[in-house]
Amino acid sequence: MRQLIAGNWKMHGLGAEAAALALLIKAGSIRAGAAGLACELLVCPPFTQISNVAALLAGTAVGVGGQDCHATAQGAHTGDIGAPMLRDAGAGWVILGHSERRQNHRETDALVHAKVLAAVAAGLIPIVCVGETEAERVSGQQNDVVGGQLAGSLPDGFAGVVAYEPVWAIGTGKTATEDDVAAMHGFIRQTLRRLLGDVGGTMRILYGGSVRPANAVSLLAVAEVGGALIGGASLKAEDFLAIARGARAA
Ligand code: PEP
Repeated sequence: MRQLIAGNWKMHGLGAEAAALALLIKAGSIRAGAAGLACELLVCPPFTQISNVAALLAGTAVGVGGQDCHATAQGAHTGDIGAPMLRDAGAGWVILGHSERRQNHRETDALVHAKVLAAVAAGLIPIVCVGETEAERVSGQQNDVVGGQLAGSLPDGFAGVVAYEPVWAIGTGKTATEDDVAAMHGFIRQTLRRLLGDVGGTMRILYGGSVRPANAVSLLAVAEVGGALIGGASLKAEDFLAIARGARAA
């Protein structure tokens, strides 16, 4: 399976900026495609830009995703977005359980689990984020925390993507060492096999946390790394595409 390089644009991008970024990624991916880009590309703009970006990227190999969805398809939920709405706007993927949602919106594993079911029912591929805080790592609890998040967030039969994003590495410029990434991705693989059987042995496990062009090649070469989830560096087409060029066919 090819590595997946996914950009999380977070709460960035008015119409003109989002369109310009999408067009640069489109142009770069087409050029790189001819030279054999080894990975799959995905961009996750804010809700308001999904349909614009999806229209600009239609017919290319760059996928489009949302950054969250509600656990139910529709209803009296002011300010929320249902998974069928994301699909209708042109998304094929959705990031769920990002640490900023878990922290800022107090999302629990049970809620993420319900959102995964809603996403799958709407035909979206979920990317479920897990990761420990700095205090949890310092006290050696990272495997317990991540193992608990996986068990609580992934429903039976889950067949999406998991992203390991240590909270202390997100937007901080700090990255996990290659040894730490190898150990955690190995642990996640083992846990996915136990929870999900054969499908857990092959699903992509992305690394996220201050991935940049300068560290992408070494992080993407670590065993069991099936791609990267990228925040800050995904807002510059040049950096996002440089990271993508560091990917390999896993
Ligand atoms: C993220 O928010 O998913 C992320 C990995 O951010 P950054 O690349 O900026 O650390």
